[in-house]
Amino acid sequence: MADPLDLLEPADRRLARDVLAHDRRALAKAITLLESSRADHRARASAILAALLPRSGGAFRLGVSGAPGAGKSTFIESLGLHLLGLGHRVAVLAVDPTSAISGGSILGDKTRMERLSREEGAFIRPSPSGGLLGGVAHGTREAMLVCEAAGHDVVIVETVGVGQSETAVAGMTDCFALVALPNAGDDLQAIKRGIVELVDVVAVNKCDIDPAAARVAATQIENALAMLRPHEPGWTVPVVAVSALRQQGIDEFWGQCLRFRARLEASGALAAKRRRQALDWMAAIVDHELQARFHAHPAVKREIGALREKVAEGAMTPAAAAAALLAAASV
Ligand code: GDP
Repeated sequence: MADPLDLLEPADRRLARDVLAHDRRALAKAITLLESSRADHRARASAILAALLPRSGGAFRLGVSGAPGAGKSTFIESLGLHLLGLGHRVAVLAVDPTSAISGGSILGDKTRMERLSREEGAFIRPSPSGGLLGGVAHGTREAMLVCEAAGHDVVIVETVGVGQSETAVAGMTDCFALVALPNAGDDLQAIKRGIVELVDVVAVNKCDIDPAAARVAATQIENALAMLRPHEPGWTVPVVAVSALRQQGIDEFWGQCLRFRARLEASGALAAKRRRQALDWMAAIVDHELQARFHAHPAVKREIGALREKVAEGAMTPAAAAAALLAAASV
């Protein structure tokens, strides 16, 4: 069978080969192409991605979430440096639900992860600011594949603990971690709020400030989690006290992540999880694309305003208005 790389245009083939040769600039360029809203860029990116796909999939995909200020970026930097020390190559990506609105980015601030970004084996990419096929999270998913092809064997996807972004990140990673704070109140709330269905490992950060309080918080969170049905059968979510600032507990945290993934791998659950994630991703792109086409349809644009008003005034049922719009768009 022909190597899919040979089917690319010469410039794109060069770019793909440079990505495979671990060239960070080529990696950044390929991701920029993926994030572009220009149709010709997207077509090129899609061909490059198809060629790189057989070389992807080799990373430990780790999701990291937590409230703003919990210390996620400090933690990821510490973990990243630790992993580089173990001989890994680390990529850090982000899903930021606020960036699509504000145009900003959680990793946009250059001072974040400054030390890690200077390391040869690390690649850090702020989240794209919207306008992508399938939304922000899809850009990140695709970037993850390119990072893997570029030899990054640990890909960390960061997100802030708001909205649907946690679900999106849990839906693209092998292991999902929560960075919590010792003042457990807020984090217990987060756990109740539904993150418990997603989280595989918890790090209670800033344990250097008050080690005793951190231990209490870790136990409280552990107990709260133990009362709930585990989402991964037989897996008790470990809660590790860490100090991202002082690099304490990072090795133990990583050990728990490895233990979790090894367990998934041994039972065949990892392959099943990734297959499910790929299918969900496909479905999400179709949904997103259908919506985009619907809203871009001239008949919908023409009629939606009046129909919305009728529904708001009670002159028409929502179902009837929706049916009229769908008929107009012929979807
Ligand atoms: P993020 O918003 O979750 O990414 O949080 P940051 O990583 O930006 O950290 C927020 C603040 O907490 C910064 O001032 C950090 O220096 C501080 N911080 C992070 N980790 C630790 C830690 O382990 N110990 C202490 N004492 N401070 C920390």
